[in-house]
Amino acid sequence: WHIEFRIFLAGNIRVFCRCRPLKSEEVAAGASMTIDFESAKDGELTVMSNGLPKKTFKFDAVFGPRANQADVFEDTASFASSVLDGYNVCIFAYGQTGTGKTFTMEGTEEDRGVNFRTLEQLFRMIKEREKLFRYDVSVSVLEVYNEQIQDLLVSDSQPGVAAKRLEIRQAGEGLHHVPGLVEANVHNMSEVWEVLQTGSNARAVGSTNANEHSSRSHCIHCVMTEVQGERLKETQNINKSLSALGDVISALATKSPHIPFRNSKLTHLLQDSLGGDSKTLMFVQISPNENDLGETICSLNFASRVR
Ligand code: ADP
Repeated sequence: WHIEFRIFLAGNIRVFCRCRPLKSEEVAAGASMTIDFESAKDGELTVMSNGLPKKTFKFDAVFGPRANQADVFEDTASFASSVLDGYNVCIFAYGQTGTGKTFTMEGTEEDRGVNFRTLEQLFRMIKEREKLFRYDVSVSVLEVYNEQIQDLLVSDSQPGVAAKRLEIRQAGEGLHHVPGLVEANVHNMSEVWEVLQTGSNARAVGSTNANEHSSRSHCIHCVMTEVQGERLKETQNINKSLSALGDVISALATKSPHIPFRNSKLTHLLQDSLGGDSKTLMFVQISPNENDLGETICSLNFASRVR
């Protein structure tokens, strides 16, 4: 036990790489694959350029275009379930627009992603432990856009009325919170799905240009499980402003004495989830298209510095 704990402290950030398939229009335009997944089962991928290997990267897991949502969750599940052991767990996706961040995290109704599957598993585990403990689960959905925090479970945005400003407060070590944020109690998976849908609809409706908005904003699902008698640390599942995220992750990876959490709303919100003895899983999402090679290499270089 003790040794496991030490190993965990030595590297509390896991990195999974996932590559989307080529889209039919890319295939039609004659796009070629720039990634070789032959060693994916060993956590390796090789970036190819003009048909020749250019650079090999190693991650905790690699999912090629044929991996489905269940395959991805199979490797995520044990990680996510440490919430019930009292860990703060943070799962987020990083990568170029259009590489599958939303697909991995939220998924679609037929092909649900990590968020939904994680909650489904939590409910399954809670049911097994129900005779011994009583858990209360609540979900918040918020967005950070232009350094402003918006509650996506509040439908109060009347025309001409500014939305209530939400701020981050600290109530003690490891206790960052956003007073006034709606915490929706959920008892089963259909309630969870409803809450997640309310959040993503509010995100789309609140903007004049949905595409531009989603590429600049960061959507966060927080899940709190509270066990009767003993309050477990809050679980926050957060994504954030990319440059601040990069700085924080690099500082954590190099064990820098100063971690610049306070540089943005998102990194500030994330402090309890990324720092201390929390568990973090980052999905680096990439495109297989040779036209995206530059961005792909940037994302992979960034992600491999984190481990
Ligand atoms: P992002 O959130 O990074 O901008 P999206 O999740 O919206 O990207 O993905 C862009 C498109 O590619 C969507 O239509 C999505 O369904 C599709 N897509 C992404 N990843 C996969 C995948 N692994 N398998 C099938 N389709 C995918």
